Amino acid sequence: MGFKPKKVEKPEEKFCPYCDRRGIVYNPGFELMIERPLLPCPKCVEPKCTCDKKSPYYINSGREIIDCTCREVRIKIDKIIGIYDRCGVDRKFRWKHFGDYEAVDKKANDAKNAAYDIVSNFPNIRKGIFFWGNPGTGKTLLSCIILTELIVRHAIEGRFIKISRTFFSRLKATFIEGSATYGQTSRIEKDLAEADFLVIDDFGVQRDSAWEQETLYNLIDARYEAEKFTIITSNSNPASFKELSEGRILSRIKEMCRLMELSGKDYREGL
Ligand SMILES: [Zn+2]
Ligand SMILES: [Zn+2]
Repeated sequence: MGFKPKKVEKPEEKFCPYCDRRGIVYNPGFELMIERPLLPCPKCVEPKCTCDKKSPYYINSGREIIDCTCREVRIKIDKIIGIYDRCGVDRKFRWKHFGDYEAVDKKANDAKNAAYDIVSNFPNIRKGIFFWGNPGTGKTLLSCIILTELIVRHAIEGRFIKISRTFFSRLKATFIEGSATYGQTSRIEKDLAEADFLVIDDFGVQRDSAWEQETLYNLIDARYEAEKFTIITSNSNPASFKELSEGRILSRIKEMCRLMELSGKDYREGL
């Protein structure tokens, strides 16, 4: 009769291949069913759960109260969904994953592979990506897929911003006394500069205001200095940014991101 050591599960044995060893699976059709977008794996987590799926996911063994085997996974799902709800991704791109992106040509396939590399190797990533090309080539979709996958896999704080009139108007409102967000400029800028991962969508449509250019340059520069990972999408060839902020924006982008074109057309302008 000896003391029987508690079996320690190796991480790779804890969860099954069905859930990609994560213990969490997507819930397709969750919107129609009014369910949650992520669920504990039905093969390796749910069968062992004996807590009735009720928070705080404890079980009473009669002698003591212990964590249910599902607890870690359910708490992680709650955390991921919380992050996702504040990440700012457009409704139409929410909870998209690689299966939703159809690579129609070689460039699209290269882009998908690059996106997959980032998701698989994070946080050991040297550069982000600057996706550029015609509208409708899936740049935003692919960026949102990366965002979703990183949040789901790593529970990191990711953010999505679309560079538009609305974006700048909201930022400008933080300078206007009496507006609901008055005085929050630095909080918003800090949040975007310090997020673990940021998608800047539709970059380069705003060329008329020095303030707007400077705001974007400051954001990109702050992320560069903090060595934060950024994905940018644009309808414009990055060569056309040569004039923006005396070329400082383009040079920062090139240092931070790999440039990838997503379009059948060839309109390179001597990069
Ligand atoms: Zn599983
Ligand atoms: Zn349980």
